Amino acid sequence: MLELNATQIQMGCQATDKQQALALLADALVADGLVAEGYLAGLQAREAQGSTYLGQGIAIPHGTPQTRDKVFHTGVRLIQFPEGVEWGDGQTVYLAIAIAARSDEHLRLLQLLTRALGEDDLSPALREATAAEQILELLQGAPQALALDSQLIGLGVQAEDFDELIWQGARLLKKAGCADAGFANSLAQGTPLPLGNGLWWLNSDETVSRPGLAFVTPATALRHGEQPVSGLFCLASVGEAHRQLLERLCDLLINGQGATFTHATSSRSVLEALGGEVAPDWPALRIVLANAHGLHARPAKALSEIAQAFDGDIRVRLDEQAAGVSAKSLSKLLALGARRGQTLIFSAEPSIAADALPAIEAAVREGLGETVEPLPAAGSAPAVTPVARATPLPAPEAGARLQAVAAAPGIAIGPALLRLVPHLEYAQQGQGREHERARLDDALAQIEADIQRLVEASDEASVRDIFVTHQAMLRDPALREDVDARLAQDLSAEAAWNAEIEAAAQQQEALHDALLAERAADLRDIGRRVLARLCGVEAPREPDEPYILVMDEVAPSDVASLNRQRVAGILTARGGATAHSAIIARALGIPAVVGAGEGVLALAQGTPLLLDGERGLVRVAPDAQVLEQAQREREANQLRRERAHAERLQPAVTRDGHAVEVVANIGASGETAEAVDLGAEGIGLLRTELVFMDHPQAPDQATQEAEYRRVLDALDGRPLVVRTLDVGGDKPLPYWPMPAEENPFLGVRGIRLSLQAPQLLETQLRALFASADGRALRIMFPMVGQVEEWRAARDMALRLRKEIPVADLQLGIMIEVPSAALLAPVLAREVDFFSVGTNDLTQYTLAIDRGHPTLSAQADGLHPSVLRLIGMTVDAAHAHGKWVGVCGELAGDMLAVPLLVGLGVDELSVSARSIALVKARVRELDLKHSQALARDALLLDSAAAVRALVEEQR
Ligand code: PEP
Ligand code: MG
Repeated sequence: MLELNATQIQMGCQATDKQQALALLADALVADGLVAEGYLAGLQAREAQGSTYLGQGIAIPHGTPQTRDKVFHTGVRLIQFPEGVEWGDGQTVYLAIAIAARSDEHLRLLQLLTRALGEDDLSPALREATAAEQILELLQGAPQALALDSQLIGLGVQAEDFDELIWQGARLLKKAGCADAGFANSLAQGTPLPLGNGLWWLNSDETVSRPGLAFVTPATALRHGEQPVSGLFCLASVGEAHRQLLERLCDLLINGQGATFTHATSSRSVLEALGGEVAPDWPALRIVLANAHGLHARPAKALSEIAQAFDGDIRVRLDEQAAGVSAKSLSKLLALGARRGQTLIFSAEPSIAADALPAIEAAVREGLGETVEPLPAAGSAPAVTPVARATPLPAPEAGARLQAVAAAPGIAIGPALLRLVPHLEYAQQGQGREHERARLDDALAQIEADIQRLVEASDEASVRDIFVTHQAMLRDPALREDVDARLAQDLSAEAAWNAEIEAAAQQQEALHDALLAERAADLRDIGRRVLARLCGVEAPREPDEPYILVMDEVAPSDVASLNRQRVAGILTARGGATAHSAIIARALGIPAVVGAGEGVLALAQGTPLLLDGERGLVRVAPDAQVLEQAQREREANQLRRERAHAERLQPAVTRDGHAVEVVANIGASGETAEAVDLGAEGIGLLRTELVFMDHPQAPDQATQEAEYRRVLDALDGRPLVVRTLDVGGDKPLPYWPMPAEENPFLGVRGIRLSLQAPQLLETQLRALFASADGRALRIMFPMVGQVEEWRAARDMALRLRKEIPVADLQLGIMIEVPSAALLAPVLAREVDFFSVGTNDLTQYTLAIDRGHPTLSAQADGLHPSVLRLIGMTVDAAHAHGKWVGVCGELAGDMLAVPLLVGLGVDELSVSARSIALVKARVRELDLKHSQALARDALLLDSAAAVRALVEEQR
């Protein structure tokens, strides 16, 4: 979301007129890289269409749709003009806020800004401010009024106990935008205050975005402790905003008027008693806004001007809001933040309603000065657009041979199952409650029957349990009731269902409990199925035999949730071999070919496919001869794998007696035992960020300690190399928001992020040290590019070690950035070990994004330049008696193994499933011969030439 901060504000500027002010604003946007040269023309054109004066000495110049393509990033820049600038219509501007926006991302900012414009005129204070912080305070600091309207009153709500009643109150506050995730939890932790008459009071100021009061009464009598519960007030508190209301409530209760609340049958009576906002009983009009970018400045201005032409009050509110705001006020209209598809409810004083409402209706329908695309009609067929396929490419023909990127080895044969995420569009407004309810019932029944079939078909108890839970969710009476309440507000079945599922999922997430967060994912999963059914979009039926999953791109979480028994292989249109999803596919042992191009998304469901995950080959509907050959190869591979597996627990020693340690890369503590069982002599890379991603919020020290302890316990004395948190790049942490970066791979990731958030690294190190209990611990820092980074991280570790002693500790760094490899002779003096992350080292050396859809096939770690950097690292380390591992994907590449051994690498850390094969490969080698091979490879000119050399010598 766009935020205001002091660096965006230029103080004390001068402009002789509006044109000069616009030029200054455009310069500021260009200088900060938000827009291209030429945006000024957009600002001028926009002013020519109508002034952007907002009120109280503020103008909000912005571009036109024609100059939207000049915007690089959405953002704002503010300039203070203490002497004022004449803005037309007799208005003087002291603060101009220039907006660069490609879509409606800035609406929220405008909404906040305009909410700050209270009754008092801000212009004198804006003019006299001498520091940017003062301007910020003025814009953000206006006291907020307590929200109290009909959407915050819930009478006769379903609640089985007091806790559920609290949850219902918190939910109303969240829906009204007063509180965010986590509020229900903090409210529930407070001590309820009895007010007499069965009335109760609870408040919290945690995660509150604006002050508000909700009042809920239970449908059936409840008790809390020994006392009855007939109503609960829930306050989202900010400062003193609620003081007046509280005094009024106390007066009412002291005067014996508690029954107003305990026996309330309408929200109006509650609101009148408390002095909340009550919608006037005026003629009203509902109309859905169709403007593509919502009620932004230009249409809002047009609307306010139409309203101003009438001599009487006209109010407007969004769907569920109460009294609404004056339609004559531009700032209030903007503060609504209305978006396309939302319903505006206008009401006008009876004396002007007959003229004003039709005029407003016509103007809104016509787009308020903008050309608008009509909204989908209620009940009309949804538009379904497969994501990322503007002009679909033709599907490859039968017999076609596609060369793509090898991502996970193995040969897979099976029918294609295309899973494309459809973008569902549907009408917000329904065709009547009964009709929509019947549609929803129908969709729910069909999905339940589908799930029942899955329950019956699945042999695995854990999978069956998941589906049974999904069925229970579909039948949840509370969910149905809430959806019904939305249907009663004339929403379509799709809109009501989707809104309720999202609200319920967010509610679960807010409780910060891993199990409930999983439930939120399940809720969204069934939510999507029902929504797709309502929109008439059928999910593809899974073939009976194991299939090849074809997707645009796979997220790590997609792969992690795949059923290995059902998915024979993965084929994607985009992605690279070292993207994290490919790494997970390898870990699961599912053959994968990625980056095959968009054409594969046009394949017909069920098309027979042959994938060769080692060579990156795809054959579409191959003929019998090709299939036979592939099957033979698969059998030979299988035999090789079985032999290697039988010897997996033997050490990897070359024919001439040189031992290489073969260890595992893991991403979850629970994978350790399996890795050991598959022959790992230790763990060479614990990707702790994957441990972090498994939690709905940053795991605290105790939670982390338990995870690391689990790994060490399962290793039973074998060595463990832990990498500290490596987020950023293609690994964002959902709960660790990071500002968008132009080049995330070159931005704040790895150790850079950890040093910017040292408390995170400190907690992790403490947890690691505490888990060691006398066992050997090796810790390495990711993405180190500068010696200072290593030293800062090392110093922190050594400081903490004094507090939490660790008997056997080694500290090292990953060599992932060319600068670190080139500096290895210096770093080797200070570190205990190096571990080469070839995935990143290759991407940074060859300047190819590791996940690049088309280039990543060329990001081959066997490129002589990468091999040279590895060689330099090993030489430097060995000169100082330090050891070197390789933990990037190259370590598990059968062609790379002889070269890495020849370069002198001491440890190969690979996915657990590759361990047996890597060990078998090492046993086939001769060290002297491998050294000669490596020397030859360093002299070659390309990765392809290196591959050819090794193939030849095989
Ligand atoms: C690497 O870059 O090679 C590595 C092992 O780290 P990651 O793949 O997790 O970035
Ligand atoms: Mg890396």
